[in-house]
Amino acid sequence: MANSYSDGGYRDSTSVPLQADSAAERDSSPRAKLKSVGFAAKHSFSNLKRFEFERDAAGAGEIELEVLYCGVCHSDIHQVKNEWSNTVYPCLPGHEVVGRVTRLGAGVTRHAVGDLVGVGCMIDSCGECEACEAGEENYCEGPNSWLSTYNGPMIPASKAPEGQNIYGRDNTFGGYSNNLVVKEEFALKIPAGLKPEVAAPILCAGVTTFSPLTHWGIEAGDHVGIIGFGGLGDMAAKLAKAMGAEVTIFTRTEEKLGEAQRLGAKGVLENDKEALAKLKSSFDFILSTVPEKHDINPFIELLKRDASIVVVGALEMMDSVNNQNVAFHRHSVAGSLIGSLEETQAVLDFCAEHGIGPDVQVIDIKDINDCYDKVEDGEVRFRYVIDMKSLQKEA
Ligand SMILES: [Zn+2]
Ligand SMILES: [Zn+2]
Repeated sequence: MANSYSDGGYRDSTSVPLQADSAAERDSSPRAKLKSVGFAAKHSFSNLKRFEFERDAAGAGEIELEVLYCGVCHSDIHQVKNEWSNTVYPCLPGHEVVGRVTRLGAGVTRHAVGDLVGVGCMIDSCGECEACEAGEENYCEGPNSWLSTYNGPMIPASKAPEGQNIYGRDNTFGGYSNNLVVKEEFALKIPAGLKPEVAAPILCAGVTTFSPLTHWGIEAGDHVGIIGFGGLGDMAAKLAKAMGAEVTIFTRTEEKLGEAQRLGAKGVLENDKEALAKLKSSFDFILSTVPEKHDINPFIELLKRDASIVVVGALEMMDSVNNQNVAFHRHSVAGSLIGSLEETQAVLDFCAEHGIGPDVQVIDIKDINDCYDKVEDGEVRFRYVIDMKSLQKEA
């Protein structure tokens, strides 16, 4: 069932500062345990299977939620298969989580029981470094960086130097689960105009593309190029269009050219040398959403003088860049990682306001391994979103 987003409608959510509290306020008292169930992989070569575990119940400043929907991100697959060489098993992925608040820890003020909230890639950060102080938790420079919603902290307690694991845990379990516990600042408000299953992928795919588009100051009339037309590329194109940009999408898949047109964008085949030649020096900004190593040199030539190409999809060694092309036109080649809490709230609100969102296909959790195969096979342009009620059928 393909669920295309349609209804707009936008309600202003109460504006609250989103900066995380300091590490000193992190609750380290012994916790009650919360019975939990999800789908996890035991090894890099195994499928995801039903997995029972316990979470720490909400401590001071934390909330518990019942997970309603969780998006399937390409990085879930990278992580499950240990393709970034940092996976801690069992690995229970999921960082595009929309849920209903079920219980509040002591002192929680931002949320109430029954609220619809979203949790993206982070559930905590050091709260004390320059990046956190600046409200850019996604670039946390603390000893463990930010705490990943699953498979975090990036330096497990057992490997961290004495006293250097500020989160005190080895692993975290994500949103392919019936519940989640999170610091209240790391749960965002889902605006009334967004369906929960549509909101889920905005928490990673949405903010990962929104953050660079806003950071590099995309304005109405700018010519924006998007490389790759999967889940990230789809969101990038819709967001850039809503910002008033003229959008060109580069894809390897001929069938997707029509899809680009449907979004009001121009579609160009990546290997169409003639088409690329015509676009030389014409872009104000190019965003690459391709989730693996690729050659960006042909696209650098398409940038106007002083313009930037930003890579968000591939978190690995890239093909080398010909600096002659870069230097001769003062181009910048840059990267960008997800987005801050403030940007995540902003993109949720922006999508509700502009009536845009990812195209989603809702699946049962039992189909997750098949969906991974399909995502790996090519750019699935829509986003798979798991209906977490389906976990109950897997008892
Ligand atoms: Zn993601
Ligand atoms: Zn920090």
